[in-house]
Amino acid sequence: MTLSSSKLLGLLKRSLKPKRTYHAQWMITRRCNYRCRGCNVWADQEPSELSTEEIKKGLDILRDLGVLEIVFSGGNPLLREDIGEILEYSSRYFITTVYDNGSMAVERIDDLRNVDFVAISIDTLDEEKNDYLKGVKGAWRRAMDAIFKLKKEGIRVGVSPTISQLNIHEIVDFTKYFIEREIPVWYCLYWYDYPFKDGMFSIGKKVDEYTITDRKALADLCSTLKAMKRESDYIYITDKTLDAVKNLALTGERTWKCKALQNFLVVDHKGRVAGCHSREPVASIFDLPDLWDSPRFDELRRKYSECTKCAYLCYIFYSVHTGLSGIIEILRDRWKSANTILREATPPTSR
Ligand code: SF4
Ligand code: SF4
Repeated sequence: MTLSSSKLLGLLKRSLKPKRTYHAQWMITRRCNYRCRGCNVWADQEPSELSTEEIKKGLDILRDLGVLEIVFSGGNPLLREDIGEILEYSSRYFITTVYDNGSMAVERIDDLRNVDFVAISIDTLDEEKNDYLKGVKGAWRRAMDAIFKLKKEGIRVGVSPTISQLNIHEIVDFTKYFIEREIPVWYCLYWYDYPFKDGMFSIGKKVDEYTITDRKALADLCSTLKAMKRESDYIYITDKTLDAVKNLALTGERTWKCKALQNFLVVDHKGRVAGCHSREPVASIFDLPDLWDSPRFDELRRKYSECTKCAYLCYIFYSVHTGLSGIIEILRDRWKSANTILREATPPTSR
């Protein structure tokens, strides 16, 4: 764990910066060793990617723009040989999370010791079903082994299920299983995103077995998770996000405006930046300092704020919590979890 006092101070200073962005998801490779049924990335792999030094330079730019939090995903980011160096550098400045499908974390365990969170994607406690969803035999067993091995090694590991019609009725039991073992759970929500022309990449197919048809079940799940949060520090989703999703499920209405290219942005393996993964790249990360305050970017922000094409949980989360008041809301909501993290990050004092 790397929540040092200098890092905390840097995060605090940046959170006060005007017109900053909060969150960046960086898909640092398109390579992947799994074949998940709801994902189109593996079918369109591409070997070209930025060098270690280019990624570090990009991280400096994001830090200077005020970004507080980086999520590394892919593809599978742990397939990069330099992942340890990238995570170590990122963790100096950002709250840093890296995703793994469960296949690489044990092999790469020494590269993960500096990162704030490792998110293992696993969708169900049903081994056979999980392997079906991941398209690879043995995926569930490897993911479970990785989760408990990392926890035993003192690495802050959590699980990240994607909620879809195929597991929506299992999510409460899934959550109970992990929180009882003090393993945090944070959620993704399956959504076909009607990709825009020239979007970075797309997820899913228009109507497939993942599509949530049981909207009432989704609303009920939001209510249940909200109630469970009262008893557990290990459910990492805010009440405000759950309320927004519940309202969307029941009424089809959005209580938020999308904050793509304001509160969050995505970067791909070539360093191209977009408001979200469905939208077209609008800049190279190396040009961001010149473009961030430009009329062109303001126009894109206006366009994205009217968009209602997707309902990915992370994009909702970063849209409903905005500005400094949003950070305070998150801290108030997740105060007990933040305390748990700080406690675990602080080495015991000798008496
Ligand atoms: S969802 Fe992730 S692990 Fe699965 S194929 Fe896509 S990139 Fe790979
Ligand atoms: S709602 Fe926002 S995050 Fe979703 S596709 Fe539109 S611009 Fe992207």
